[in-house]
Amino acid sequence: MKAEIIAVGTELLLGQVVNTNATFISEELASLGFEIYYQTVVGDNTQRLEKLLDLADGRSELIILCGGLGPTDDDLTRDVVAAHVGESLETDKQAMTKISRYMTKIGREMTENNRRQALTISGGKVVKNPRGLAIGTFYQGDETAYLLLPGPPSELIPMFHEEVVPLLTQLLPQKEVLTSRVLRFYGIGESRLVTVLKDLIDTQSNPTIAPYAKENEVTLRLTAKTDDKCLADKLLSTMEETIMSRVGTFFYGYGETNSLMAETVKLLKETNKTVTSAESLTAGLFQSLLGDVAGASVVYPGGVVTYATKVKSQLLGIPLDKLEENGVISQFCAENMAKQIGKQLETDYAVSFTGVAGPDSLEDQEPGTVWLGIYSRKEGTRAEKFMFNGNRNQVRHHAVMRGTDLLRR
Ligand code: ATP
Ligand code: MG
Repeated sequence: MKAEIIAVGTELLLGQVVNTNATFISEELASLGFEIYYQTVVGDNTQRLEKLLDLADGRSELIILCGGLGPTDDDLTRDVVAAHVGESLETDKQAMTKISRYMTKIGREMTENNRRQALTISGGKVVKNPRGLAIGTFYQGDETAYLLLPGPPSELIPMFHEEVVPLLTQLLPQKEVLTSRVLRFYGIGESRLVTVLKDLIDTQSNPTIAPYAKENEVTLRLTAKTDDKCLADKLLSTMEETIMSRVGTFFYGYGETNSLMAETVKLLKETNKTVTSAESLTAGLFQSLLGDVAGASVVYPGGVVTYATKVKSQLLGIPLDKLEENGVISQFCAENMAKQIGKQLETDYAVSFTGVAGPDSLEDQEPGTVWLGIYSRKEGTRAEKFMFNGNRNQVRHHAVMRGTDLLRR
């Protein structure tokens, strides 16, 4: 089935915003089995969007539009599409209630513009927006289906996963139904993973295996093609088992959006454990990424950033002379940072990060040298030395990922 994506927004044309929505939607569509023939960007302009719709209509069976569903006057996508398909706009009651509740909560008066976010195309189907106020619409025309989604990726991505995929799957001819499972790995590079799975990848047919490297991690998307749901699950599970028997130790979770940190928080929650951290070279990056996970406070009471040697001694009670004698990029420092913070905050685990992010050397140690300390109330303290590649930020990111991974083991 032929599909195309129209991103609406003058800010995209001016280069102020990168069109990540198109990348995301394309990837999703491709894995569902759609053929994406065009991606276009158009400014917030009625005539130009109308023209583009005329063009798109003649060549695509599914048109996904993103952006321009907000409350401001330049948000014109729904008006233009409604006029294009010859329908009027109507208010979705549920969305309107949500908006008015929100306005009351923040103490603002409801304006006409706010009401616009609850508008949908008559004859279409509302696509709920769990993370925002502007609803989406799915409209099936005679020959073309239209899907309207809001611009902010933080709203569009969850909407796509939770609301859109089931709608789109219905559009596909039954034989073409694709079921995907995404496996996520940390601690193994893409090339090594591909080498270990070479025979499976070379002979893949159903399911297919698509490796994809993201920063510091690799995902494998397994896709089964059959209209029989049970058979799809069976095909995927059999392939997953074979893959796990080879690289299972590097596996940490399923799904497109779950991060190593999110999986770690989940694991700690499930086992009723807590963790804290003492960070030097990462300067709070661990805390920050942990804070991205909703509900992290249940497992993380807090932690410290101790940059200067003196502060490591002051805040963590590590004798200054010992720190100076051993150096801060040392097993001694990493172990004591983790142990002291773990004991102070009485957590089950603690992780520490000390090293040199670069570009300059420190204590005669090369940039990328990192010691990670792990304290466990039950098992005591240990530290491991790593040599990470990359620039300053990459080294810090590697350190946090590896520290997070060590906590899971
Ligand atoms: P809002 O309610 O925020 O106005 P909207 O549906 O009207 O939502 P836009 O006004 O077009 O969407 O865009 C809002 C913001 O969403 C943009 O400023 C930009 O940060 C982000 N955004 C929009 N389109 C894209 C895109 N194609 N790729 C990535 N981000 C985008
Ligand atoms: Mg807008």
